[in-house]
Amino acid sequence: MNIAENFRTVLDEIETARQKRTSNVDEPIKLIAVTKNHDVTAMREAIDAGATDIGENRVQEATEKFPVLERNVTRHLIGHLQTNKVKQAVKLFDVIQSVDSIRLATALDKAASGTEKIQDVLIQVNAAREPQKSGVLLEDFDSLIQFVDGADNLRLRGLMMIAPIVSDAEECRPLFKKMREIFDALKPSRKDFDLLSMGMSHDYGVAVQEGANVVRVGTAIFGARNYQN
Ligand SMILES: *Cc1c(COP(=O)(O)O)cnc(C)c1O
Repeated sequence: MNIAENFRTVLDEIETARQKRTSNVDEPIKLIAVTKNHDVTAMREAIDAGATDIGENRVQEATEKFPVLERNVTRHLIGHLQTNKVKQAVKLFDVIQSVDSIRLATALDKAASGTEKIQDVLIQVNAAREPQKSGVLLEDFDSLIQFVDGADNLRLRGLMMIAPIVSDAEECRPLFKKMREIFDALKPSRKDFDLLSMGMSHDYGVAVQEGANVVRVGTAIFGARNYQN
């Protein structure tokens, strides 16, 4: 597994997808290297290859791996967060992408109020209404966004979505497009609202074409995850 080579291939494919866009052609696109279930050696290799953003989905795993990271790497929490881990999460992560309830947002706001930090967050949307998935449903979205907008210690940076797993990523194109429309509608009235996080190894090309400006890629950079470890 050549991590550096894979990383460059993903960057190239992001660029190709961006050129197929019909709008926002010049928008910068952020690649998050998702290191969950990979060791710190793999994480280091990605950073040496140019990764500026790292994504982890569990607080415990990040606690073990982040101490070796240099400060200028941006750390993203992309997995579900339990309210009893918010204090640790605020300490560890620059951006928490998985805010999906007022209860969690309240706990995060309180945890950040005890620090100097204003916590950057994304609201995770369950746009496909998958029952087993985290993310706020669109009917509950307005009250959550209103709450986060008003929270003194949270800064709403954008939206996150995990698309359904399908055999052909094209099937998710309408969903990515819809998310970009929601994002564009919210953007003009908000400061610092700039991140639309969607697209993973199997669908990031389509996601970027439809307006993702953050993609979270694990397998295409690091290979398959081994959950036996
Ligand atoms: C694991 C994970 C990814 C990366 O998935 P790959 O298919 O390996 O690229 C992206 N986003 C979230 C929320 C994840 O949990």
